Amino acid sequence: MKDLILDVKDLAVEYTRGDLKVRAVAGVDLQLGAGEILGLVGESGCGKSTLGKAAVGILDRAEGDVTFDGKSVAKIGRGKRDPHFLSLQMIFQDPYGSLNPRRKIGEQIADGPVIQGMSRSDAIEKAKSLLERVGLPANAVDRFPHQFSGGQRQRIAIARALAINPRVIVADEPISALDTSSQAAVANLLVNLVEEFQMGMIFISHDLSIVRRISDRVAVMYLGKIVETGRTEEIWNSPSHPYTKALMSAIPHADGKAFMPLDLPGDVPNPAYPPSGCRFHPRCPMAMASCATEVPKQIALADGRKVSCVLQSEGAAVKTLNFAK
Ligand code: ADP
Ligand code: MG
Repeated sequence: MKDLILDVKDLAVEYTRGDLKVRAVAGVDLQLGAGEILGLVGESGCGKSTLGKAAVGILDRAEGDVTFDGKSVAKIGRGKRDPHFLSLQMIFQDPYGSLNPRRKIGEQIADGPVIQGMSRSDAIEKAKSLLERVGLPANAVDRFPHQFSGGQRQRIAIARALAINPRVIVADEPISALDTSSQAAVANLLVNLVEEFQMGMIFISHDLSIVRRISDRVAVMYLGKIVETGRTEEIWNSPSHPYTKALMSAIPHADGKAFMPLDLPGDVPNPAYPPSGCRFHPRCPMAMASCATEVPKQIALADGRKVSCVLQSEGAAVKTLNFAK
């Protein structure tokens, strides 16, 4: 990994749903380097968005440690944010929902720099150049969100995030709501921006082909935990966790908003009642008796990737997984 900028340790987030407690993120370690894109994948409901929000410090209820530039991010909460943490930004799936329909684009992009002490006129100039950087005309500053297409609005949301000179961006399904032609263009834009500004980016997506194409590393999440993380090509070429292997065979869901791993029986369990031992064992084609009782430790393989599965051995080369049919 390149220079570490975000270090997540033992992060946990618990929601209350009626009488039930849902540990949406159940003890996660994650590192992000400058100039790096980390793809975060996993089935719907596994905790990706919750992890992303906790990583940028906009969830009050997060436990554990998130360190950014040597300062603790977790538990800052929305509204109480130290300006230092404006350097952590999030981009959401629906850019319309995150832009105010009644304010001019330029004003909205200028808000962040103004909070950071820039004069409003300078901030509007900055907004113009950022709009050009993301492929829109500078005169868009005087227009309103409804005058733009979905893809253009996502570019505006990206310009607004860039305006505060972020070091880390969590992009949560940033292209999922866009038409196919804008998807590739916005993905390429993000890749170029990460390179140009040497930011770190966590890219959350259910589009595995895009994740594979743009991510330097990938983290695979299942029911609140990261089961495997490593360099993208290694993960695709030789998955070391059975869930990763199943995910690689996944096909898009009919609604286009999720994917279904083909080789797995059953559905994702209710996170309010996570299975004992390895959380994946009831669906795992390779589960052994001990998997129902023993929580697998995270180990490092010879190639540096980390995996939580008893089928692999610390420090060893990855063992090839074969699902019995
Ligand atoms: P993903 O982004 O991977 O689809 P989420 O982080 O949105 O997953 O959700 C993880 C789990 O937490 C799900 O079971 C979801 O229903 C639950 N959850 C998410 N947000 C809330 C909330 N505000 N209150 C209660 N439960 C929530
Ligand atoms: Mg989500």
